[in-house]
Amino acid sequence: MSVGTLLLDLQDLDLELARNRAALNAMPEIAELAKKRRAYQKLKAEATKLYAQRKDIETYLKDLEGQEMDANDDVRIAQQNTDSSDYRAVQELELKLSNLAKQLDKIAYDRREYERQLADITAKQNQLADYTAKFEAAFVADTKAAREKAAELTESIERAERERAHVLEQIPEQLRKRYEKAAAAHGGLAVERLEGNVPSVCRMALQASSMSDLARATGDITECPYCHRILIMNEDGEE
Ligand SMILES: [Zn+2]
Repeated sequence: MSVGTLLLDLQDLDLELARNRAALNAMPEIAELAKKRRAYQKLKAEATKLYAQRKDIETYLKDLEGQEMDANDDVRIAQQNTDSSDYRAVQELELKLSNLAKQLDKIAYDRREYERQLADITAKQNQLADYTAKFEAAFVADTKAAREKAAELTESIERAERERAHVLEQIPEQLRKRYEKAAAAHGGLAVERLEGNVPSVCRMALQASSMSDLARATGDITECPYCHRILIMNEDGEE
């Protein structure tokens, strides 16, 4: 393989490496996953909030249960302790029972309200749990896909790096340095090949006279008189 071809191969590998490294560093999937992770944390926070609300309501309901038992006890005690032959005592009892009945009504009313709230929260919790489960499954799949894509990119980067080392070995030291310099100066596009009388990158047609001058003076590898890239005059030439 001619050194010119090796240089062009080296450039292809470097361009591929730059492309794949940039793609790996800027994978949109990574930003997307970070966004989803934040959304997931919000779902978890929402679940915690609902759980706390549920606990509060369950506590209220338990309190009401205690209040109801107390009120019923009071009714029983009042009835037991009233002398039914004593008119005033009976009247007091009636008043007391009427108050206790109101208390029990209020308790029943509050209980219905809390039970309604509890049913509401249960529905929300179920809905959230369903949604969270689906979200988790999608997140796991997305993470897997992103990981696979990153692994593929990493693998092709490593393959290109190995190839690059192999190509580099075959290029003389001086030319290597020239390539690195030209690559830095031309944003990675250090080498162009002559296609007819037109260099492949800058596309400035060479005069027939300057072509033969270049070939005579420097052989297969020269410098483009226009853009100063490394110009491969004859890719398949003998070394
Ligand atoms: Zn050129």
